[in-house]
Amino acid sequence: MDLKGKKIVIIGMGKTGIATALFLGSQGCRVAVTDEKQISQWGADFGRIASEKWLKAEAYNPDILNGADMVVPSPGVPPHNDILSAAVKKKIPVMSEIELAYRFLKKPLVAVTGTNGKTTTTSLLGEIFVRAGKKVFVGGNIGNPLIEYAGTAQEEDFVIAEISSFQLQWIEKFHPFVAILLNITCDHVDYHGSFDKYRSIKAAIFANQVKSDLAILNAGDPFQEAIAAGIRAQVSRFSSANELKKGIYLKENNLVHEMFDGTREQYPQNMIKLPGLHNVENVMAAVTAARFCGCSRESIIAAVAGFRGLPHRIEYAGEKRSVKFYDDSKGTNVGSVERALDTFSEPVILLLGGRDKDGDFETLRPLLSKKVKKIILFGEARDRIESLIGNVVVTEKKRTLREAIEGAYKDAAAGDVVLLSPGCASFDEFRNYKERGNFFKEVVRKL
Ligand code: ADP
Repeated sequence: MDLKGKKIVIIGMGKTGIATALFLGSQGCRVAVTDEKQISQWGADFGRIASEKWLKAEAYNPDILNGADMVVPSPGVPPHNDILSAAVKKKIPVMSEIELAYRFLKKPLVAVTGTNGKTTTTSLLGEIFVRAGKKVFVGGNIGNPLIEYAGTAQEEDFVIAEISSFQLQWIEKFHPFVAILLNITCDHVDYHGSFDKYRSIKAAIFANQVKSDLAILNAGDPFQEAIAAGIRAQVSRFSSANELKKGIYLKENNLVHEMFDGTREQYPQNMIKLPGLHNVENVMAAVTAARFCGCSRESIIAAVAGFRGLPHRIEYAGEKRSVKFYDDSKGTNVGSVERALDTFSEPVILLLGGRDKDGDFETLRPLLSKKVKKIILFGEARDRIESLIGNVVVTEKKRTLREAIEGAYKDAAAGDVVLLSPGCASFDEFRNYKERGNFFKEVVRKL
């Protein structure tokens, strides 16, 4: 792809936008950048490129499109954005950062998407591949953007990338050698407009795959069968509930892998140190991808056994008066709250709230009656959540997360679990889920 001399517009000057600008500058493009935020609030690295001759910062309006050959929106820019809509109207090609990166990628790509479990599975895959002696770049939606890798010497054997639904918009040729779709539950309706749209965008990860590629699907996900019909790649499924003829499933404390060549291998479930069946599913998806890419069974077992998970995902956060606290601040949608509740057998005091994403909280009802002793709602979303599920178990409302934690502790009896699994974004009170999780742990420590 020759971009020399072209005018490329980048919307959004966060980490991805800046990395994209840097890459395009190195390709000899004229790069016009803009953002709805003031320039002083652009990503920390903007200073590195601000004075480059090939770069021009412009006002945040569709005039930036004059003479443009292409537009690259940052992952956070919604499809209804004014500049983006104007570009589509003017028939200026729009390409997401992962599509652009893909055009310059020389190494096979393992891509992980889904509503939940992407970061966990992507990180685990990185550990497995390294343990198997392979050189990898791990990035995408976590860590470093793919576009940053595209500009390097690319000496690795594989690229492992976490891909979000935002990034799957505006792709055309993006083509992973192995693509994993972990699960699809309701999320980001505020951004995509509808759950149907969100689902169809997730399916795009398979769109350009061919017969020699591998698509990994969740057999327990009701939305994936319709997607499977359109896939050209070989398909392998995973299931934590049922036996499968081909694929990987859980049976009597073993992960049983029925491989394409007709052989069967097993992995002990107790190699997995992470909580919950959802993590068994993440591991099963990772095992399938890793075996297809030539990692040995032994290296997989060793890497899985050594993988302790990531912070803010049902992370143990301490114990006070025999009450255990867990930080699941990354549980920002209803699907992840459901899986978090599934992991506990103790009575749970659940802290739910933050900034709403139009979550379908009603679906939690059966699980709440079974597992939850009390719900404490907090933050911006508290009234809406109360209107949906306020009558299932004892429910109380607090203004802030701090008040919610302190209230939970006051009400908790020995043996209870206090779980922050908010089912909402954090931006009403915090910069991001990490800040919210760290705040939770800090308040718990000081109780
Ligand atoms: P993502 O990168 O997709 O947001 P993470 O690995 O960061 O996924 O986990 C986000 C949240 O989802 C956490 O609350 C975690 O416990 C939960 N989770 C992880 N894996 C799964 C899964 N397979 N199904 C449902 N929830 C999951």
